[in-house]
Amino acid sequence: MSLNLRIIPLGGCGEIGKNMMVLEYDDQIIIIDAGIMFPENDMLGIDLIIPDYNYLIDRADQVKAILITHGHEDHIGALGHLLQILDVPVYATRLTTGLIRGKLRAAKLVREIDLRTIAAGDIFHVGDFTIEPFHVSHSIPDGVGYGITTPVGLIVHTGDYKFDHTPVDGWPPDFAKLAEFSQRGVLCLLADSTNADRPGWTPSETVITAAFDSLFQEAQGRVIVATFASLISRIQQVTDTAAKHGRKLAITGRSMKTNVRIARELGYLKIPDAMLIDINQANQLPPHKVAILATGSQGEPSAVIGRLAQGRHNSLKIQQGDTVVLSAHPIPGNEEMIYRIINRLLQRGAEVLHEDVANVHVSGHASREEMKLLINLVKPKFFVPIHGELRHLKAHGQLAQEMGIPEANISVVENGAQLLLDQQSMSLGPRIPGGYIFVDGSGVGDVGPAVLRDRERLADSGFFIAIAEVDGHGRLKSKPELLSRGFVYLEESTDLMAGAQETVANAIKINGQQGKKLRKQVESALAKYLYKETGRRPMVHAVIR
Ligand SMILES: [Zn+2]
Ligand SMILES: [Zn+2]
Repeated sequence: MSLNLRIIPLGGCGEIGKNMMVLEYDDQIIIIDAGIMFPENDMLGIDLIIPDYNYLIDRADQVKAILITHGHEDHIGALGHLLQILDVPVYATRLTTGLIRGKLRAAKLVREIDLRTIAAGDIFHVGDFTIEPFHVSHSIPDGVGYGITTPVGLIVHTGDYKFDHTPVDGWPPDFAKLAEFSQRGVLCLLADSTNADRPGWTPSETVITAAFDSLFQEAQGRVIVATFASLISRIQQVTDTAAKHGRKLAITGRSMKTNVRIARELGYLKIPDAMLIDINQANQLPPHKVAILATGSQGEPSAVIGRLAQGRHNSLKIQQGDTVVLSAHPIPGNEEMIYRIINRLLQRGAEVLHEDVANVHVSGHASREEMKLLINLVKPKFFVPIHGELRHLKAHGQLAQEMGIPEANISVVENGAQLLLDQQSMSLGPRIPGGYIFVDGSGVGDVGPAVLRDRERLADSGFFIAIAEVDGHGRLKSKPELLSRGFVYLEESTDLMAGAQETVANAIKINGQQGKKLRKQVESALAKYLYKETGRRPMVHAVIR
């Protein structure tokens, strides 16, 4: 009897972000990527979301390695959490290991981890798996996909990719390797679906060079460019354009500074020392001599651009004549926050350029024509679209079918699905939990949907507290005290307040001395009254003493 290979997406299938894939054969598991996702803005107080890796906790001794494709947060961000339960080697390319090291240091993971630097073109073995990283182009240098020879056949995982013939780092994707895999026969292709709804080709990273060039040309004042701290290629482009136009460069934002330092040390980012200035020096120079790189392209209120928009940055103020460039695509759900920040920047006198009005961003992911080329190059027997919401995965699956892969050989699945693969067939095994874990401050997983619902209610309707003093016979000693925040302004709601006091008094009169039960009854009567009067449902709390 031959064993199956199990392919289990724990993240990134059915969503954009927190990518994580498990390959399991017999008693050996390897993991590809361990990323995070940023919460949608209706998930209050949640800092980030990591994949539900409970499946691995029971099987920790079977996990042999973690392979990382590239240094973006949605691929490395959960490593610190994962390495608390797994003591296994992590394989990544040079820039990626540098970024991981910086991240783990910031997260204060004290244990020494076994971080192994690999390069595209290497071949190495982990248990029964033979692993061949191959170069792909993306919006960060040194990205790889993996060819993994398993006992049932060759699996190809693209990581995030685009087929950029003129990438900023001058290193195009390894088409030859993909063709070679195809000659050997690829059992299954797992491919990035992020842009499966975009026709044509994704423009090369270098097309924005022209846009940057003209905006630097035209800007009279300072140019402030916001992008992801991990978009190393974009940072290089801003640097080159600033240099060309005789501007000095200041780097702001903690993650931006860290990544720039690491990428420069490792030689993936070239910024002459003489060009770098700090914010104080930037404030001394004439505006047309200054360019600033900043975090906050997603409208995050605590990042540099967010603070500038609110006038809350300690050493930097937006001034008339500044040009602010948001060089990133809004992560779905962030649009509202971004537009709010754009409006505030405009109020403060800045000109704001973003992808809707100027060519200041291109995607790092393949569009449909590139996806077709990939499938043609690799010619897999089975196909599994990964990295995308269900609509992207579906569209990618359909495209594969148009390219001649039989429908039965394509699996569109979401996190937690268990695909069983042998040389002949692919089938679905029982589902395993494939949800999410919320990370809130330093606590992991102690926030469930119930807590989130409470926070939603708090944000929506505030809270309302009644304090009542009751004597030994269960009679009210004085008028109940009322407190509220975020609900109504009590001073201006005398009728409502009187009604609420009466409701509390009645509930106490009816229910008398019943300890904890009395509290519940007062709370429920009060909640009903407030809802009837205002149509809102604040968190209601009663204190009886
Ligand atoms: Zn990426
Ligand atoms: Zn990604």
